[in-house]
Formats: sequence, structure tokens, C-alpha cells
Amino acid sequence: MSEQGRVLVVDAEPMVQELVRRRLGEAGFGTVAAASGQEALAAAEGGGVDVILLSAALPDGDGLDVLARLRAMPSLEGVSIALMATQRDAESLRRGLAQGADDYLRKPIDRVELTARVQALLRLRRHLAELRRKSERLEELNAALERLATRDALTGVANRGSLEARLAEEVDRWWRYRQPLSVVLLDVDHFKRVNDTHGHGAGDAVLRGVAETLAGAVRKVDFVARYGGEEFVVVAPSTDAAGARILAERVRAAVAGSPVEAAGLDGAPVTVTVTVSLGVVTLPGVPEAAAMRPADLLARADKALYRAKQGGRNRAEVAE
Ligand code: GH3
Ligand code: MG
Ligand code: MG
Repeated sequence: MSEQGRVLVVDAEPMVQELVRRRLGEAGFGTVAAASGQEALAAAEGGGVDVILLSAALPDGDGLDVLARLRAMPSLEGVSIALMATQRDAESLRRGLAQGADDYLRKPIDRVELTARVQALLRLRRHLAELRRKSERLEELNAALERLATRDALTGVANRGSLEARLAEEVDRWWRYRQPLSVVLLDVDHFKRVNDTHGHGAGDAVLRGVAETLAGAVRKVDFVARYGGEEFVVVAPSTDAAGARILAERVRAAVAGSPVEAAGLDGAPVTVTVTVSLGVVTLPGVPEAAAMRPADLLARADKALYRAKQGGRNRAEVAE
């Protein structure tokens, strides 16, 4: 279609319709006509319209009612609408502009003004469409940026920065409400061997698998993050020492029971099963519990983790 844009002309008078359509046609616009509010809504619904010229006086009601209904149609978002009214009906023009019309044309319609205005309305529509495209793109980019800033690129779980923010928040909450708070630090056992035996690609696949298993083994309100290398942290709000022990055991068993499919050094598929060692620390929900900073919590969990490694791995130890 080589037309510059498509205009819906809504007017009860065949003479006006004819005149407007002819003039617009000469100027290179495509046109559709409607003689009533009902017809206008049906034609607009059909789509493909860029500009609507709407008479303020229609046989089946007020043009302003039709304007309101056109404006409420999601498919017409960004379509420019101009009201047409006689000098006597100037009040309609005023109200129409206040109620969402983009422009107006006085009847009798001046031919030069008609095409000039329609061109301007079309430009408005193009600018709006462009603006919408850009703002959608911006939203996408923002979402991607947010993801990049907060998620670990390899595993998709929260990254270390998010972990620190979340842990600080939870410790603040603990100070305020003294609900127990547990943190589990876990480290993949003999992970170096996975890399050495099957290559880094397989190692990466195993890390992704462990992250996925972790995310599936904890509650929705719990928080899983990659702490670094092959170490992960689970933050479990409102979880006391007994609960944390159960959580750690569930995580341990889940990882040990979830073999990961990966491609080995020669490209052939390999199945790798890893285990994790875990260090568990809990801030109890009692008023007299000692003060604790996030870094202290992680340091205590790390000590417990070290004991789990010393004790033979694939096990959890609770911080003293
Ligand atoms: P331990 O049971 O004592 O924890 O033994 P380990 O082999 O797991 O411990 P070590 O700290 O010696 O090795 C960790 C390995 O994790 C070494 C490092 O190359 C590997 N690693 C860290 N980050 C990544 C990663 O993103 N991808 C892969 N494939 N390997 C990683
Ligand atoms: Mg480690
Ligand atoms: Mg390790």
C-alpha cells in the first residue's frame, strides 16, 4: 500500500463524507467512512486506521460519547482523533479537546486545512508509536540490566552483591523482630576433580545443576545465592536451629541424589554426581541473643563448613 496513512471519516452527511474523502484521496491518504457512532466503532475495531475525523453530531448520539469509547479501545492506542463541528457547536470542540481529542476541524471544512491537519495528526501518531517502541525497548533493557546486576550469569541464582544486600536486610529484620534467622553456606566437594576429569564445560554444567537443585530444595521465602566459585549460600528467614538442620540435610540429600548430565572432554555425554558440605548458623529468636553482623554470620558458617570437610564431606555441621 502506497497510501500515506488511513483516515476514518465519521460523518452522517454523505456530502461531507464525499468531500473529505475525495480531498484526502487526492492528497494520497486512504480513507474509510462511517455514518454513525456504531459504524465508526465497528470500522475502528477493524484496525488499520491511523487518524479518525469524528463529527461531533451523529445520528445515534453525541460524538463525544463515541470519542470516549474510541479512546477506551486498547487497539486504538496512539491513533489520532480530531473532532469536526460547526462554529455554532464550538462548545463540543472545547469539551472534545478536554476529553482526549487531539485536534479539531471547523465545518465547513477548508480543503487546505484538512490535509495539513491530517498530515500533522499522522506525524503525531508516528511519534507516539516511535516513543512507545522506544519505551518498550527501554523496559526490556532495564529488566536485562537488573538481571545482570543481581543474578549470577552462570547459574541464574542471586549473585554475591544481592546476597550481601539481602543478608543485611534479614539481619536488620532480626534485630527488629527477633525471629530466628538461619544461614547455610555450602561448598561442592572435590569440585576440582570434576573440572580435571571432565573439563570446565562439564564443571559449569554441574554448577548450574547444583544451583537448580538448591533452588528446588528450599522454600519460596528462602534465598539462594552463588557466593563464589563452587560455594553457595541459602538464607532462611524465620528458621530456627532445628529447622536449619532439616533444611541443610534436605539440601545435602537433594544434591547427592541429583546426577547432572553434561558433555565430557571428548564431547560424549557424562553423568556427574557431586556432593556438598554444609555449614549452618542460626540467630535464635530470643531477645538476649548476642549482636551479630552479616559478615560474622558467614564467618561462623564457614568454620562449621570447614569442620564438615574435615569430618569427611557430604555432611552438615552446625556452628558453635
Ligand atoms: P573441597 O572438597 O575441599 O572443596 O575440594 P574442591 O576441589 O572443591 O576445592 P577447591 O577449592 O580446591 O576447588 C574449587 C574448584 O572450583 C577450583 C576452581 O577451578 C573451580 N571453579 C570455581 N569456579 C568455577 C566455575 O565457574 N566453573 C568451573 N567449571 N569451575 C570453577
Ligand atoms: Mg570452595
Ligand atoms: Mg569445594
